[in-house]
Amino acid sequence: MNNFLKISKKVLILQKDLEEQSDGDFNEYAQKITHKFYNQNEFDNEMEISALSIIVEAIRREEGYVAFPVQIIGALTLLNGNIAEMKTGEGKTITAIIALYLGYLKNHHQILFTQNQYLAKRDYEFSRPIFKRLNISSGLVEELDKKSNQKFSFKMKERQSMYDNPIVYTTNDVFGFDYLQSNLVSQSEEKLNLHFDWAIVDEIDSILLDDAQMPLIISGNPKAQSNLFNITNKFVSLLEPLIDYQTDNRKKTVWLTEQGVQKANKFFRVEKLFNKNNFELVKHIMLALQANVIMKIGDDYIVSGGEIKLLDSTTGRIMEGSLFESGLHQAIEAKEFVPLSKENRSMASVTYQNLFRMFKQLSGLTGTAYTNRKEFLEIYNLHVDRIPENIKSVRSDLKDHYTVSLSNKLELIMKRTTELIKAGRPVLLVTESIFTANIYSNFFWSKNISHNVLTGSQNANEAEIIKMAGKKSTLTIATIIAGRGTDIKIDKDVQEIGGLAVIATEHFSSKRIDNQVRGRAGRQGENGTTEFFVSLEDKIFEDFYVNRIERISNKKLLKLNFFQKEYIKHKIKQIQTKFEEDDYKNRFTSMEMDETLRVQREIIYHERDTIINQNELNHKQFVYLLKRYAKNIIDSENYDSTRFIFDFIDESYNIDDQINIDEKISDRFNYVQNLLAPYPKAFEEFVNQILLKSIDTEWVSHVDKMQQLRLLIDKRVTGQKNPLQEYQEDSQRLYKIFRNSVDKAILKNFMLSRLEIKNNLKVTFP
Ligand code: ADP
Ligand code: MG
Repeated sequence: MNNFLKISKKVLILQKDLEEQSDGDFNEYAQKITHKFYNQNEFDNEMEISALSIIVEAIRREEGYVAFPVQIIGALTLLNGNIAEMKTGEGKTITAIIALYLGYLKNHHQILFTQNQYLAKRDYEFSRPIFKRLNISSGLVEELDKKSNQKFSFKMKERQSMYDNPIVYTTNDVFGFDYLQSNLVSQSEEKLNLHFDWAIVDEIDSILLDDAQMPLIISGNPKAQSNLFNITNKFVSLLEPLIDYQTDNRKKTVWLTEQGVQKANKFFRVEKLFNKNNFELVKHIMLALQANVIMKIGDDYIVSGGEIKLLDSTTGRIMEGSLFESGLHQAIEAKEFVPLSKENRSMASVTYQNLFRMFKQLSGLTGTAYTNRKEFLEIYNLHVDRIPENIKSVRSDLKDHYTVSLSNKLELIMKRTTELIKAGRPVLLVTESIFTANIYSNFFWSKNISHNVLTGSQNANEAEIIKMAGKKSTLTIATIIAGRGTDIKIDKDVQEIGGLAVIATEHFSSKRIDNQVRGRAGRQGENGTTEFFVSLEDKIFEDFYVNRIERISNKKLLKLNFFQKEYIKHKIKQIQTKFEEDDYKNRFTSMEMDETLRVQREIIYHERDTIINQNELNHKQFVYLLKRYAKNIIDSENYDSTRFIFDFIDESYNIDDQINIDEKISDRFNYVQNLLAPYPKAFEEFVNQILLKSIDTEWVSHVDKMQQLRLLIDKRVTGQKNPLQEYQEDSQRLYKIFRNSVDKAILKNFMLSRLEIKNNLKVTFP
């Protein structure tokens, strides 16, 4: 870090000299050096310093201000592949721009990830003129318009050219879906070629911690309808709570006891429920349990017009068009006796954890990473470097306020807020959810106190409102996530009376989020205060059976004494630590599980790529493979040979005929080759189609099975001690089955498909 400080000082001296040059001269010089460095393999300190001075000066010419030393230090930290912890308002956007420029000279391709489309666009537009000045093109990749039903392939060329820009701004979900989609296409012209060189992730904790486990899933064709939903629903309705099954409400899990397993064995007439052959049955029982025991009508969903509709847990709003994860939706339908809808297969999935681990280099920016530095190091091999503040913060974090009941707290918050507003301070009131934001909003309206409410819809309008949240006597009510990435500027008169006042309506589930909220006030050495309000009825206590807190609140006290307050303070810390540990464990397990699928996915995607790109086909080897597949199938599965011939070799087989399978394969091969001989490359194309079709169909079904296996194990239904190990063993087994099914499909598709050739080749698969 000391070294970085020295470098930044040298940079700023050099940059000062550049200010003298005319615009034309500077551009010419900057472009020349950029071009020269870009083509050099070696990069020494001196080059780094002159490159930095160029980008800093380019920023100054476009934006009118000179980067702070801490911004240069932050950029150097990013270049080293670390996380730069810089508070809100320290200027992370420009820090990233400096890093991107140096990355361009060294790696040539980098992507800057933001949390949402609005921020990606904002930062792209802000930086574009700066890069343009240096003759570097940059791109913005946006979400495809879902409503207009644009075909992915249709936009492919345009998207590819955007991704080919050396500097790209986009969001994690856009990139994730592009990655998944492009591995589902069958022609190389349709395939996106994504560059996994360097990813800089802005607000990295939000993406890699808060959203880490949420897998991105592309679902496709409906599956064959299962008939197990109704019967398992019936079974579950006969079970007795606590005796036949147990639950963990915080984790929202439910599992069968030994007694419950016995009942299932009897009911379904199976010997051992947890036998591998009963995979489907176990899965459906688990879903039925989940639907009947955990999911609550009115809280999680409602029934309207013969359909199940999801409710957003934080807002209580109906989420039109959303479905519960595959299978659970149908299980709830069975529970509520509404017609079962079709289940979709997962075709491809990836978690952000693994998506970002694919990059050669990963870096990140955020105001709050230090509390989770161990996890960043263990999972992503990222060090967290705390960058000093440009101007030391004078924000004061006031003591917590403690109340017994929620209504006491509401009154107290109201009193404090009005006091602050009267004094001219702008107040940002931060709540845990949209639901609580609305409660506070109604409460303030009832007292005729006007305010804005921000719920994190992440659009430009919200960003505008949050920018204004620093004006005199303004009250803004916002959820934790609302307006993240937009800093609140305060006016001079506000600075003089104490700056922005942040009021948090409760403590959140981690110290990191508490810090995130505190960081809203006191940017760039400005004044500001933060204070948290606690009541014994807060959500944070709810999930824990906290005896003493219960006892205190049962006493119907009006005020708490010193010792009680100290106890509560201590308890909150403990609960936060427990939550953090739980979350960490969950993320770790989830990553390990995804890792298994990732290895498999990479093999398959690689094989597909090889097929898509190959020109030459080794005919001899292909025939040999087909024959071997045939032999393997007969050997391994004791196939009845007549059945085998019908299924794989010849649908019009006459049982009385003698057949030599190898000969049949050779005959078919020669027939197809002759048929396609007049058309150049048609035979190769036919084989390609066969291979891809076979891999894809089976892969989709494999991904789906893996997804369900994970669901099973996540919910602990199998009652095993080491879920991860069990998952890994099972996934190996499923993978073998998958490989065999691909071989089978290739043989079948080759032997039994119909060919037509007019203008181009048309294959009809069996
Ligand atoms: P962060 O992402 O760290 O919260 P931003 O990048 O959004 O911060 O920057 C916050 C504000 O500070 C922006 O309005 C930006 O224009 C301004 N800013 C950034 N760097 C400088 C600088 N070197 N001098 C003056 N203002 C700056
Ligand atoms: Mg930012």
